[in-house]
Amino acid sequence: MSTSTKFISILGSTGSIGVNALNVVRSYPDHYQIKYLSAHSQADLLIEQAREFLPQAVSIGDATQLIKVKQALPGIEVLQGRTGLLELASRDDVDVMLNALVGSAGMEPTIKSIQAGVDVALSNKESLVMAGDFINGLLEAHGVKLFPVDSEHSAIWQCLTGEAAEDIKRLVITGSGGPFRTLPLESFNNITVAQALKHPNWVMGRKITIDSATMMNKGLEVIEARWLFHLPAEKIDIVVHPQSIIHSMVEFLDGSVKAQLGIPDMKIPIQYALSYPRHLKQDWEQLDLAKIGTLTFEQPDLEKFKCIQLAFDALEQGGSVPVILNVANETAVYRFLDGEIPFNAIPELITKAIDAHEFLEHPNLDDILALEQWTQAFTKRSYRS
Ligand code: MG
Repeated sequence: MSTSTKFISILGSTGSIGVNALNVVRSYPDHYQIKYLSAHSQADLLIEQAREFLPQAVSIGDATQLIKVKQALPGIEVLQGRTGLLELASRDDVDVMLNALVGSAGMEPTIKSIQAGVDVALSNKESLVMAGDFINGLLEAHGVKLFPVDSEHSAIWQCLTGEAAEDIKRLVITGSGGPFRTLPLESFNNITVAQALKHPNWVMGRKITIDSATMMNKGLEVIEARWLFHLPAEKIDIVVHPQSIIHSMVEFLDGSVKAQLGIPDMKIPIQYALSYPRHLKQDWEQLDLAKIGTLTFEQPDLEKFKCIQLAFDALEQGGSVPVILNVANETAVYRFLDGEIPFNAIPELITKAIDAHEFLEHPNLDDILALEQWTQAFTKRSYRS
């Protein structure tokens, strides 16, 4: 790695991705300098992070905590709300913006950073699900790069190093199958929030943990891969791999398959997105294959995990459909977390929203934002039949 310091902005710094990224920065203080941090509502943690990493500015989403953050951080510029977040995303004096925001709220910040000419380390897969085509156009226009943080896409990215795009036969995205892989379909309606929040392998935020339980997370990752790697849906497959050791694979035209392996811990792909093209030394737990013993694989059960097919269908239909898929899913997931709807209602509400919306072939940014609003409202008031 060059000796010059990389200036970094972390949007969503108090979530699990943000905290892991700051651990990387802490271990390589000569390589990285934090310039901006943003948090949604965890003011105390944001203050603690800012006191340690001394950014130039921070933004707090929850306006009621503005005074508290300001008083705690004299000498640091403090912004607030959605405006503050978008302002930080628009600043061009950083080398890379890590987008660790959750859900559709992360899409506009991705766009702002690209428009500012800043490379984006992307954990917010929803940005590409909602606006992949639009974002790819912007990347080209602004000469900006996206570095995947999602572990599967980091794996594919690493497998593709040195390879020619035309030699790829297909991508194979692995997924653990989540907590309900072996649960019979008849029991799905009784799934509780506590059960769905218990992921077998990965420690993650609440929204993505529920997406893993429905396997919508894999569906969203297929759409994300489509835009990151410029491949059609027919060339992207999912295989269930309960041990989460192989993080994804690439099959080439001659039948050769490359895989990337590692312990199931987001700190590796997070660091790689920041250290690319280098792999920096860390003393964290090493992969011990002899101890793991067996790696197994199976087909995903599309009858149990209806969200997977919904995502493939959305990708095939294109246009506005993936926007509706993403926002309806997100809204339904929060309703499930709030105890308002059963687990099985998540794919039902998504289907209803897709069927009810007015299809647009080529939605622009304003269309996407309007569709987001419509879908949130629709999915909030739509009840299970
Ligand atoms: Mg992933």
